[in-house]
Amino acid sequence: MNEHRYADRVRSVEMSGIRKLFEAGGPDAINLGIGQPDFDTPDHIKMAAIAAIREGRTGYTPNAGIPELREAICEKFARENNLTYRPEQILVTAGGSEALHLVMEALVDPGDRVLFTDPGFVSYAALAAFAGGKPEGVPLDADLHIDVERAKEQMDGARVFILNSPGNPTGAVESEESIRALVEYAGDRGVTVVSDEVYEHFIYEKEHVSAARFGEDVITVNAASKTYAMTGWRVGYLAAPEDYIPEFLKVHQYAQACATSISQYAAFAAYAGDQEPVARMRSEYRARRDLLYDGLTGIGFDFPRPEGAFYMFVPMGQTLIEKAVNAGIIIVPGGAFGSRAPEYARFSYATSRENLSRAVGRLGELVG
Ligand code: PMP
Repeated sequence: MNEHRYADRVRSVEMSGIRKLFEAGGPDAINLGIGQPDFDTPDHIKMAAIAAIREGRTGYTPNAGIPELREAICEKFARENNLTYRPEQILVTAGGSEALHLVMEALVDPGDRVLFTDPGFVSYAALAAFAGGKPEGVPLDADLHIDVERAKEQMDGARVFILNSPGNPTGAVESEESIRALVEYAGDRGVTVVSDEVYEHFIYEKEHVSAARFGEDVITVNAASKTYAMTGWRVGYLAAPEDYIPEFLKVHQYAQACATSISQYAAFAAYAGDQEPVARMRSEYRARRDLLYDGLTGIGFDFPRPEGAFYMFVPMGQTLIEKAVNAGIIIVPGGAFGSRAPEYARFSYATSRENLSRAVGRLGELVG
């Protein structure tokens, strides 16, 4: 057998701990581990994809995306985020993941420091490392929000600060005041802000505030994936000051050519069409959040009610996490999201109310 050789940048990165867990649970397992909507993609979006196939719109598209989708995304920014973009500032990607990847490739030189919260979304550290950068976690406060003062201390000399509100895995929504303070400070220090807003529509009390409102050097990353229950379609986008786009396009063009044509037509229907399905999903997530939160606090867990996304980050010891997984409640240990929260587990409530009630019942037996 040949000994295959691998580049250090790949060897240095571990596989995500999340997928491994799904096999652990057995046939009767209740899966609260998965980070994707359990809703079906709304019908008018599917119909647009079917029409694109039937009409033969199945070739390469312009690298940056079909013009009508880039236009619809600009209109979405104006309608929902109070931001003005031109289509030349939008790049359509294969999911938010590709947008994050190409931003890292285009901006990060070897040794550059890339900041994001710890605990935080699993991809940030890996993508920073692939680009040769130095991933660096920023701590959260006791309520799982960004500790703005600590973040500022780490900002000097960093290349990129990734902001993620609503946050994965915490469900925390940052205040306008914190977002403004972080973006303005980053602007003063020459740190580019990458604002990952994929959960923007799943907020239950506060308002979503886009980071790009507070600074010039901000790149917004977003996707149809969560908003429209379209994770498998692989469409996302970024919006940035126009001079960034040609550099990002180089990476996108050579690695990807374009996002899937059919998915882009579907995404156009999503952004330009009826937004009612999003409101319906939001209200169902809110009901599930309340059910899970009331259930967990009812059996003795003590933590603030998370404000957004479809995650709950619950303080619990490692022994209890193991017992829960062995009892068929698939949750993700905090250690999968960095080094600072081993005594927590992420519960996803992107599953039925019935499953959530069963999970709370089983957990109640373990702690009771
Ligand atoms: N950002 C965050 C915070 C996420 O949780 C995810 C998906 N889990 C993504 C980006 C990537 O989403 P996509 O499926 O659009 O690549």
